Parts: sequence; C-alpha cells; structure tokens
Amino acid sequence: MRRLRNVKIVATLGPSSSDDATIRALFVAGADVFRLNMSHGSHDDQKARYDIIRRIEADTGRPIAVLADLQGPKLRVGTFSRGTEELDEGARFRFDLDPAEGDATRVCLPHREIFAALEPGASLLVNDGKIRLRVDRCGADFADCTVTTGGTISNRKGVNVPDVVLPLAALSDKDRADLEFACGLGVDWLALSFVQRPEDVREARDLARGRAAILSKIEKPAAVKAFAEILAESDGIMVARGDLGVELPVYTVPPIQKRLVRAARAAAKPVIVATQMLESMIESPMPTRAEVSDVATAIYEGADAVMLSAESAAGQYPVEAVATMDNVARSVERDPTYREVIEASRKANRQTVADAIVAAAREIAETTDIKAICCFSQSGATASLVARERPRVPILALTPVVATLRRQCLTWGVHCVLTDRVERFKQAVVSAVRAARDHGFATDKEQIVVTAGVPFNVRGTTNILRVAPCDERLIFNMDPE
Ligand code: PGA
Ligand code: MN
Repeated sequence: MRRLRNVKIVATLGPSSSDDATIRALFVAGADVFRLNMSHGSHDDQKARYDIIRRIEADTGRPIAVLADLQGPKLRVGTFSRGTEELDEGARFRFDLDPAEGDATRVCLPHREIFAALEPGASLLVNDGKIRLRVDRCGADFADCTVTTGGTISNRKGVNVPDVVLPLAALSDKDRADLEFACGLGVDWLALSFVQRPEDVREARDLARGRAAILSKIEKPAAVKAFAEILAESDGIMVARGDLGVELPVYTVPPIQKRLVRAARAAAKPVIVATQMLESMIESPMPTRAEVSDVATAIYEGADAVMLSAESAAGQYPVEAVATMDNVARSVERDPTYREVIEASRKANRQTVADAIVAAAREIAETTDIKAICCFSQSGATASLVARERPRVPILALTPVVATLRRQCLTWGVHCVLTDRVERFKQAVVSAVRAARDHGFATDKEQIVVTAGVPFNVRGTTNILRVAPCDERLIFNMDPE
C-alpha cells in the first residue's frame, strides 16, 4: 500500500477516533502520522490508541509515526462562583493569586511567575483571544486591567500573554510525566507547545534521551523571533496557527507560515501546517471552498505535512476529513504549477558531499527515466536531504532501524521500507531493487537511483550514487565492491 502523493497527513486522535475500526479507516483514507494530544484524556486512553496504531502497523506492514503533543505551559484562570461572567468593554477587572472563586470584578490566575513578568500596557487575552484586557497597574500578586474587547469569561479558560517572554519552565510537572509516559510507550515524535527559547527544546531533548525526535510548535511571538535558533535545536517544526493567531494579529500568520515552511525545508527538517485546516468538517461532511484553498496553499508552499485537529479528534466526519486532505493533495500535486513553485523555491545550500549527492540524484531523475531515489541510511538523514530537493520521483528510505523508519513518516515524499542490515554497497543495491519492485515503484525493465554511505552503519557518510537497473540478474552479475 503506497500513497499517491508526497505531502503527509497528520490526524489527531480523540473521542471521535479511538476505536480500532475508526483508526484503521483513518489510516486507509490516508493518515500517515497519528497525534496523541496529551492535553486531553488519560494515560490509559492514550495507551489504548497507541496499541491500536501499532496493531494496524503490524497488520498492514507499513510504518506509522506517532506524535505525542505535550500541553506545555498553558495558562488558565481559576473558577467563578457563578461559573461564567460577562465582561463589558471599558470595565475594570483584576487577576490575582487568591484561590477564592471569581466574580465580575476579579478571578484567580494561579501563576505567580506571570505577575512578576507583567508590565503596565501589556495585553492579556482570554478564551482564544475573544476577550482582551490591558494591564493598568500590577504587582507581585495582582494585575488591574481594563477590558478592551468584551466577552464571556468562564471556568478554567485559557490565557495568552503575547507581549512578554514568560519566565515559565518549558515543561510543567504534568509535561514531564507525560513525556516519560510517551517515551515509555514508544512514540516517535514529541511536540513541545509554547516553546519560547532554544533552551526549551534542549531541556526536552535531555529528558527524551534519544527515545523520540523533538518537534517545536511555533505559537508564541518569542518563538517567531528566535525561530532560527529554535529550528537549529529541533528535529521538526509545527506552524501552530491556533495559538499563533491569538498571540499575534491573525493576518500576520500567513506570511509567518510561508517563512517557517521555507526555512524548515532549507534545513531538511519536516514542517507541519496545523489548525483549522478543515474546521467546518467538525460538523459538515463537506469542507468550505476557503478551507480547501488553505490546505492547497500549504501544499503549494512545500509543507511536509498538513494536520487535522478537532476535525479528526472530536468531529462527526473524521474519515471524510482525511479523505478530503488526500484528494486536495493529489489534485495540487498533479498541477504543473505545483512543480514550478516547488522548484523555484528550492534553496541551493551546498556545503557537503551529501548535499552534492542528493542534488545529483534529483538531476539524474529529471534527466533520464528513473522510477525512484532509494536512500540507505541509519539515521534517515540522507532521505531527509533528498526530500529537501523535492524530486519528481518517489523517495524510498531504506533502513534497518525501526525508529528511523517511523520518524520518516512525517517527511515529504518519503516512502519508508524496513530492510536487513547491509555491509556492502552491492547488498544495498539488491535490497533497493527488491524494495522498489515489491512496493510497486519499478518493474524489471526500469531503473532507480541508489544512494548510500560507505562504510555502512556510520552516521552521515552519504558518498555513493549508483543508477541501477531493476533486473536482479544484472545486479547479481555486477562486480563485487
Ligand atoms: P494545539 O496546538 O492544538 O495544541 O493548541 C496547535 C495550535 O495552537 O495551532
Ligand atoms: Mn496551541
């Protein structure tokens, strides 16, 4: 079973998609990566979903990536004695540390660090930015504000503080427990919410100890500012447009999305475009024209993956939402303009032998009739570099390392195949030919490109390129080397 598109689909699991039949249907419809959202559900719920995914993987013989999304330092107000209050524009309202239930004049904001960092003039946003307040006066345990945009405030609503770098630990106690749990399960990717600084990523990496790759969610103005450094520390990126569009004016999000997608591609690291992609499909079997256009835009920009959140986790049409993304992707990728855009945005970053080899692999595939570029690697680094080139032909990532195989499910255009360990280049060529034929990429009359690094089983040594016929008899007659 191979996908007929390059962009990958990430589907969030939740109450609408927790049984074997639904998760299987999501996979068949096109989900390549499943996201477990640690903000909701118990560890038992997550484990049950994880086990189902691995069962589907075993049944279908196709690797699947699991991404555990850590909640991060999400701020929330306390509770109200009446549960909910109306805040009118121009009204005064106080946040403080008093755990007593709130009313129309005040509520608890149980995060001492925030009061220390606030300054008069800063904005506080409540309930996805629907309510906005300006800080007039503040101290160690309170902030007196004026409501600048009114609305309904209620128990435990989220709070965003866009203007200040908050002196919050990147990972709460809950996040640390969730991280340990997720790594224990065997997830492939950890997503970090509300990353503010490159140190936040290093902290998570130290805790993960190589058990999972680290994906930074860009959803704070501070992260946009420090993006180059955060990208350098991360294995992947998410353009988390939900919170980003709350913390920054919503019309600044599209240019940021374009910039982040290009930078991540230039760094050969996968980038996911996320949130509200098919929002109306939570309740409707049909997307809006604007949503289809939004998914298409992310694909034209060259994103590695597009993501479903509530659409697949809590909506009424999870499978239809995945199928819609799959259809949009295939339609865009058939368009000659897509190739033009993708090729025009290729950044020539040529510093190493590996850079030169992957560029040569792409050029050979463009010049002659090549059916696939097959990359042998331990770490998956070569396949990621080939993906950065966005070649016209499929990329086969061949590795004996299951963790590498699964992580690569997030990378543009990469079809992952588990192989035996190889010691010699000739064995690698034979394995590549078999994989290309078995997975329906080439017949014995056709040719593939094979890249690898010799000596084998050493990281970052891509240094060989061979154009190989897919006729096994020819291969066995080749000179040994
Ligand atoms: P969330 O992250 O769904 O965990 O909030 C994505 C976003 O903010 O866009
Ligand atoms: Mn978010």
